[in-house]
Amino acid sequence: MTTTQAPSPLLESIGLPRFDAIRPEHVEPAVRSLLEALGATVARLQDDPAAPTWDNFVQPIEDDGERLGRAWGVAAHMHSVMDTPEWREAYNAMLPEVTRFYAELGQNLKLFEKYKSIRNSAAFAGLSPARQRIIENELRGFRLSGAELPDDQKPRFQAIQEEMAGLGAKFSENILDATNAYAHIVSVESELAGLPADVITAAREAAEKAGVEGWKFGLKMPSYLPVLQYADSRALRETLYRAYATRAAEVDNGYSKPEWDNGPLIKQILALRAEEARMLGYRHFADVSLVPKMADTPEQVLGFLRELAAKAKPFAERDLAELQAFAKDELGLAPLEPWDVAYVSEKLRIARYAFSEQEVKEYFPEPKVLDGLFKVVERLYQVRIQADSGPVWHPDVRFFRIERDGELIGQFYLDLYARDTKKGGAWMDSAITRRRIPGGIETPVAYLVCNFPGPVGGKPATFSHDDVITLFHEAGHGLHHLLTRVDDLAVSGIHGVEWDAVELPSQFMENFCWEWDVVRDMTAHMDTGAPLPRELFDKMLAAKNFQSGMQTVRQLEFSLFDLLLHMDFDPAHQHVMDLLAEVRREVAVLTPPEWHRFPNSFSHIFAGGYAAGYYSYKWAEVLSADAFAAFEESGRPKGSVLDAETGERFWNEILAVGGSRPALESFKAFRGREPQVDALLRHSGMVAAS
Ligand code: ZN
Repeated sequence: MTTTQAPSPLLESIGLPRFDAIRPEHVEPAVRSLLEALGATVARLQDDPAAPTWDNFVQPIEDDGERLGRAWGVAAHMHSVMDTPEWREAYNAMLPEVTRFYAELGQNLKLFEKYKSIRNSAAFAGLSPARQRIIENELRGFRLSGAELPDDQKPRFQAIQEEMAGLGAKFSENILDATNAYAHIVSVESELAGLPADVITAAREAAEKAGVEGWKFGLKMPSYLPVLQYADSRALRETLYRAYATRAAEVDNGYSKPEWDNGPLIKQILALRAEEARMLGYRHFADVSLVPKMADTPEQVLGFLRELAAKAKPFAERDLAELQAFAKDELGLAPLEPWDVAYVSEKLRIARYAFSEQEVKEYFPEPKVLDGLFKVVERLYQVRIQADSGPVWHPDVRFFRIERDGELIGQFYLDLYARDTKKGGAWMDSAITRRRIPGGIETPVAYLVCNFPGPVGGKPATFSHDDVITLFHEAGHGLHHLLTRVDDLAVSGIHGVEWDAVELPSQFMENFCWEWDVVRDMTAHMDTGAPLPRELFDKMLAAKNFQSGMQTVRQLEFSLFDLLLHMDFDPAHQHVMDLLAEVRREVAVLTPPEWHRFPNSFSHIFAGGYAAGYYSYKWAEVLSADAFAAFEESGRPKGSVLDAETGERFWNEILAVGGSRPALESFKAFRGREPQVDALLRHSGMVAAS
């Protein structure tokens, strides 16, 4: 029997992905043909003598880009959730080609010229604000990649990028090498007092593996953290603390090698960033970093951080005083040393808020939690969430649809349980992004993926409160993607949203997990069906805010240090540790020993994407807390934070507009004013007693 070649299910660009038919062997031919198609379109358009317009230039590139993005998105998704050897191979085989293709697209100066001429054409003013923003975003991306530099400066700019990539990679490798090189052998059993049994077993096994007597400890988190938290031996804690604090530094700590010292790398990275900023015409790198972000200027961010620090510091001082008193009175530890802080904190936390995570878990069976989440969404936005049908990649995956007044708004997959073939963590990703197509509107589809424990022994899965928060967080990203009303892909849903604003809708949703009304309705004890007792909830709430003052000023210390380092700091003439000391004098309550080399392992800013952007964590928290406060203000007097009127406004002004306008504008349209830090302070228990 002869068969004709069936069209590849991965090439279908209408409707839901055909997870029942798509196989790893479809990836290479489909992605390659889509790469070729997009490449051909770009090649044709970049040399087209006709004046570029949205319709003859932007739209065809977007259409072909969408087809490629959709097929590649499915491959990437399968690689994350069904990481079999076949899928891994299929994905990795095409990854370099896809990466290279997009990198070249971003450097294509002919395209840059086309976008510029649309920007300068009379027709630009007639484009929708969303389309204007897409053009501006494209231009900005090209400019920040050095597209507008004079030709004689471009090689240097390129060299800086490559050198920085290499330095960032070396920075991480040094930390990893130092972390792996260290070992501390405990040979007397009494030294292990206080440590959990599984940690002791792991240390024993590590020693056996290394062929030594005793127990082996190291600087990787599963070994280091329990020692600092639980080991009664102050000497053991101090030994590991010193080793950890001096990783990848010039300090002689007995195990480091000079070639692992990140100190010189820090200087080089800072100097290169400053040079890059000057070439692009900016004062410093902090200016460059903020161009695509929500915050306007580094000065504005400094003001924000300092205001928050001034308000949080008294609470941090109170936290520290309590800790010192407890250490002295209950544990005989005075003065409190840096290697005592985690240990004493853990003892104080247990003394104050002891409750069992296991007990809490029994109140959160999955059906009740999902039902609770859906009810929150349905009440806030006056929508219906119902089970839907469609092909899925695993029998555990469920599929739902969101409707309003019978009209389909979007759909989402829910893949909740941990599997050997699933990447760790939790995330939301887009399967289909809303946009207008010739036949009408293509509705969005989202993946919500978690790694929760599955059902055991025929009973429904039960979740920890942290799991529930994670689920709400990802659902928040999902709603941002699904409730968009933007018609143009590049700024629809989460696309084109500023990096420091993208966590607003997700962190916003977390707040509902701390609302008694909501929590009561989504809990039912596994055996008795009773809701979570109020007393237990109050303990959870108190534990949540434990040491929030100290934690806040610590985050602010890192944020301020990061920002100032990328402003007027001169790495050739000033010392990084001096700047850190200055920042600590301003905001910190705990000062580590002078041999501590925190910057040498600050990978977020030297080897990750957070340079002059570490503030984003707190920034997004402030936004989400302040947004939630609008629901408290309008809803509480009516009896519930689940206020549909405010929900409608949140949808219209924040979720619906996605990246089609600046996030600050969206926030102000929703809140009627600039963001304020008060709500975050209040939610964290940092309110002055009146
Ligand atoms: Zn998130």
